[in-house]
Amino acid sequence: MSRDINNKFWDEELETLPREELEKRQLADLQEIVKFAYDNAPYYKRSFDEAGVKPEDIKTLKDIQKFPFINKTTQRDTQGVGSFLGELAAVPEEDVVFISTSSGSTGVPTMSPFTKKDFDEFQETESRWFWQIGMRPNDRYVHALNFSLYVGGPDVIGAQNLGALCIWGGTLPSERLLFVLKTYQPTVIWTSPSYAWQLGEKALKSGIDPKKDLNIKKIIVAGELGGSIEATRKAIEDIWGAEVYDFYGLSDIFGACAAMCEAKDGLHIAENHILVETVDLHTGEILEPGQVGELVFTTLRKHARPLIRFRTGDIGRIDTTKCSCGRTHGRIHILGRKDDMFIVSAVNVFPSDIEAVVREHKGITGEYLIRIFEKDFTNKYAVEIEKSADNTKTAALKARIGVKPARVVVHPDGGLNTRSEHKSKRVIDERNLEYNI
Ligand SMILES: [Zn+2]
Repeated sequence: MSRDINNKFWDEELETLPREELEKRQLADLQEIVKFAYDNAPYYKRSFDEAGVKPEDIKTLKDIQKFPFINKTTQRDTQGVGSFLGELAAVPEEDVVFISTSSGSTGVPTMSPFTKKDFDEFQETESRWFWQIGMRPNDRYVHALNFSLYVGGPDVIGAQNLGALCIWGGTLPSERLLFVLKTYQPTVIWTSPSYAWQLGEKALKSGIDPKKDLNIKKIIVAGELGGSIEATRKAIEDIWGAEVYDFYGLSDIFGACAAMCEAKDGLHIAENHILVETVDLHTGEILEPGQVGELVFTTLRKHARPLIRFRTGDIGRIDTTKCSCGRTHGRIHILGRKDDMFIVSAVNVFPSDIEAVVREHKGITGEYLIRIFEKDFTNKYAVEIEKSADNTKTAALKARIGVKPARVVVHPDGGLNTRSEHKSKRVIDERNLEYNI
């Protein structure tokens, strides 16, 4: 492959398509995939018939709004039904070359199948994201994500296809990972934001200064919201002396479906693969681009298991204006998971709101835990933080959060049991849920 390494685009024509042209392509793919799903996946045949809609009803992109939603429950209820791949699958098993499964953090794990073409297009998209953040064939890259069942594991192939020297790190113990970083001097690493931060802290504690002794220039983070919180990115960047870029993926679609560019103003989503809608959380009513709601994705090119109007459970908005980087694909801004949102004094609060304040604050470690509880029939929450070892004053955190926590509990350094090598648990709901329903 002979790409000009000075060209900022991996696929210039695709990444800078005028929106009109991009939407024309989306429409052609949408018409094709909806028909394919209807003709081949038993679930879609049934649900479209019940809703009284036909693939031919799609004349514009907006016509997708006539079609019924699906969600995680649809996936769970249909997997294994009728065939191994279930009723949402649109190809026979012999056409499938790979399955990943979700972590099951919100219930029974769901399986995501790929045909050979689905998988190759997935990796082409990953190469594009790696290139977008500045990875080039002369980079050494450590893929420090879980390889077991997880859809983010194979993303490393996208980096290899780009030509980078890849080290399949997986979830090594941190001492071993630090040894790799020190010995092989890689320039790019991908891990979760909380782990990127903890690893930096661990390095410092073991006498390695990431800025001087290591050569990491770029850190990709995903799997948690931190990468979209400026204060968290900054905290990680300060430890490593590296640029942090947020990626966003869904086990149901790709390892990364969206990625930051150098402007770091939202994440470009691969609109050639995914049609994005935003809908009201409660009513499902369609919102205009720019309004905050639940993100609903339709996969335009995945044939093994097309997702038509999949409610992701992620709250955010899409910006379809042209980015300063020159790319025309829309940018998504994620605020949090619907499941993690809680309401205090009639205001929606996301753990990310708390994290932004905690990470900015000096004198505390950046670890935090939120407890939601009920008092006098009202939702309240408490924030637990850790004072850093060198801090003798009590942190004055309380005054800085928009919706005030009922209490702030300060633990000593290491006092919170939130450190994890993958996803950190940040919210404990102590309410009587039966009462709340
Ligand atoms: Zn951009």
